[in-house]
Amino acid sequence: MEESRKIRVAILICSDRASAGNYEDKTGPKLKYQIQQAPLNGECCEFKILPDEQEEIEQLLRIWSDVNKVDLILTSGGTGFSKRDITPEATRNVIEKEAIGMVIAMMQYSLTKTPMAMLSRAVAGIRGSTLIINLPGSSKGALECFESVAGQIPHAIDLLQNSHASIDELHSRMNGIALSPEQIKSPSPVKVKSAPHVCPHKKKKSVNFKKTSIVDNPARRDRKSPWPMLSVQEALRLIFENSEKVPSEEIDCRKAMGRIISEKIEARVPLPPFPASIKDGYAVRSTDGGGVRKLLTSVAAGDGRDDIFLASGYVARINTGAPLPKGADAVVQVEDTNVISMDDDGEETEVSVVAVPVGNDIRPIGSDVSAGDALLFPGDRLNPSKIGLLCTTGNRLIKVFRRLKVVVFSTGSEVVELDQRELKHGQIYDANRYALIGFLENLGYCEVIDGGILPDKPQVCLDAFTTALEDEVDVILTSGGVSMGDKDYIKSIITNDLGGKLQFGRVNMKPGKPTTFGTIGSTLFFGLPGNPSSSAVTFNLFVKPALRMMTGQNPRPNVVKVKLAQEIVFDGRPEYHRCVLDYSRESDLPMAVSTGSQCSANIQSMAKANALIIVPQSSDAKESYASGEIACAMLIDDF
Ligand code: AMP
Ligand code: MG
Repeated sequence: MEESRKIRVAILICSDRASAGNYEDKTGPKLKYQIQQAPLNGECCEFKILPDEQEEIEQLLRIWSDVNKVDLILTSGGTGFSKRDITPEATRNVIEKEAIGMVIAMMQYSLTKTPMAMLSRAVAGIRGSTLIINLPGSSKGALECFESVAGQIPHAIDLLQNSHASIDELHSRMNGIALSPEQIKSPSPVKVKSAPHVCPHKKKKSVNFKKTSIVDNPARRDRKSPWPMLSVQEALRLIFENSEKVPSEEIDCRKAMGRIISEKIEARVPLPPFPASIKDGYAVRSTDGGGVRKLLTSVAAGDGRDDIFLASGYVARINTGAPLPKGADAVVQVEDTNVISMDDDGEETEVSVVAVPVGNDIRPIGSDVSAGDALLFPGDRLNPSKIGLLCTTGNRLIKVFRRLKVVVFSTGSEVVELDQRELKHGQIYDANRYALIGFLENLGYCEVIDGGILPDKPQVCLDAFTTALEDEVDVILTSGGVSMGDKDYIKSIITNDLGGKLQFGRVNMKPGKPTTFGTIGSTLFFGLPGNPSSSAVTFNLFVKPALRMMTGQNPRPNVVKVKLAQEIVFDGRPEYHRCVLDYSRESDLPMAVSTGSQCSANIQSMAKANALIIVPQSSDAKESYASGEIACAMLIDDF
C-alpha cells in the first residue's frame, strides 16, 4: 500500500559569515517555513550552513542528491558578483542537466521587484532525481525567487521521479509546466504522486528497494566517494552523540556475569557481619597476656553459638571464620600455642599461648564493608569478584542495563556458510559474522542475533534490515558492501529505503576507510567494511564504544603505552597496526610486536593480535616510529 509522501527538501545556506557565526542566518528559517506551505507542502529533511567553499558545497550537493535522495535542494547565497560567490559554479559542477526555465522565471519575477536582480548568477538543474535551485542570499530575494517557481516544483519532481510515465503523459504534463504570467504571480499547488516511502517500523512487504543510479548503471556511479573523510575523533563524536542509554531491568546477581550496573548498589549487611577469627587458633582475653590457660570450649564457623562467655584465665579453640566469643578480644594462632594437658578422651584441657595485642587476628564487624557502603556504580561491569561482592553483602536483585539487542549480518554474494563443504569458484567462507558475534558475546551484555549472510541483492538486504527493525534491535551490524563497488548498496539502503540518516560514510584511517554509521530512529546501523581485519578493527574502534555508551560505561577504549619491537613507517592515513603485546621481555613497558602483513584482507595478522598500535599519519615532521620508540596501543581483547 502506498502512502502519500511529502516532498523532501534540503536547504543549504552558503555564507562565510553565517558559517563562522558572525552573522545570524535569517533566510534558512524562513525558507524552512515556506516549503511546508502550499503549494509545496514539503518537509525540510536536511539543513546546513557552509562557507563559500566550492569543494565543500559540491560534496554536500552530491551527498544530498545521490545518497539522501532528497527531492529538492535549495541553496541560498553565493550567487552574486563577489569574489567568494561560487554557489553557481559548485552547482554547475554537480548537475547533469540545466533547468534554465526556472532561472528565467525567477529572474523575470525578481526584475519586477528590483533591477538589482540582474546581478544574480543563479543556476538551476537536475542531478539524478533531485532538483537543485540556487536562490539569492537575502531572505527577501530568496523567498521571492522561491515563490516564483514553487508552483511548478511538485510537477518537476513528479516528472523527474516518474521514469515509467508514458511519453504522452509526460508531454501533457510538460505543457502544464509552461510558465504563464499568472502562474508566476500565483503559483498553484500541484499534487505530488507518491514515491514508495519507507517507514521502517511498518509493514515489511510494502518496502521496495528504490533503484538508484549507482545500481542501474555502474558506469555512471561516482568515481569519487561523495562522503567527507572524517577523522576518527569526529566519527566517534557522531557515534557518541547518537548512542543513547538503554533502560534498566532487575535481575538476580547470580546470573549477572558481564552485565552493566545501572543503579548504585549498597551493602545490605556489613562484612564480616560479626567479629571473625582470621586464623585457626585460640580466642583469648589480651589482658591475660601469655601463659597456660584452661580450655573453655571450641567454636567452629557456622555452629551458631552465641552463648559463650570467655572469662579471664580461659581460652576457646576457634576456627578461621568463626565468631569470637563474648569476653574475648584477640586470637592466638595455633602455631603459637602448645598443648599442656589432655583429658581421658584426648581432648586438650590446657594450652599455653603467647601474649598478643588486643584485636590480634580478628576482623571486626564491618572491617571490610560497612552496611550501607556504596559498592558498585552505574557503568560498572560485573566480573566474577564483583558478583562475589554483591552476594556476600546480601544483594540478590540488582538493577542492570538491559541487554543490547544486536543483529549481525554478513553481506556479499561470494560469502558462504561453513556448512557448504565445497567452495565454488569465487566463493569464500564467512569469517566476519562469526568474528563479530564472538566479539559481542565476549562483552557479556548483548543479546546477539545471527542475521545470516545477505547476498548483494538490495531487496533481500532491505527485507532483512526491515525485519530487524521490526524486532526493535538496538544495533544492526553488517560487514561488506560499503565501499565504491556497484554492488555496495548498504549506504543507499540506509538513507533511501530505511529512511535513516547516514552520520558518516568514510573515515580517515587504515584499515577501515569506508566504515559507515547511520541512525534509523533510535537504532544504530554500523556498516563495517568487508575485509576481515577492517571489520575487526572498526568493531573495536567504533562499535564497542557505542555499546559501552549505551550501557553507561566509559566509552573510551583502553589504551596503554608500549615499546615498539620494530620500526613502523607511517602511512598517508592514521593506522591501527595489529600487534601482540609481549610482557615477557626485560622492558619496563610491554613490547608491541607487529603480527605481520597489515593488508586489510590479511586475517592472520588480526587473529594473532591482542592490541592495535595507534600510528599517526605521515607528516613532514615525522614519517616513522623507530624500533624501541614508545607509542600507544589500544587493547582489543578486553570488554
Ligand atoms: P566488500 O567490503 O564487500 O567490498 O568486501 C571486501 C572484501 O572482503 C572482499 O574481498 C570480500 O570478499 C571480503 N569479505 C566480505 N565479507 C566477508 C566475510 N563475511 N568474510 C570474509 N571475507 C569477506
Ligand atoms: Mg561485497
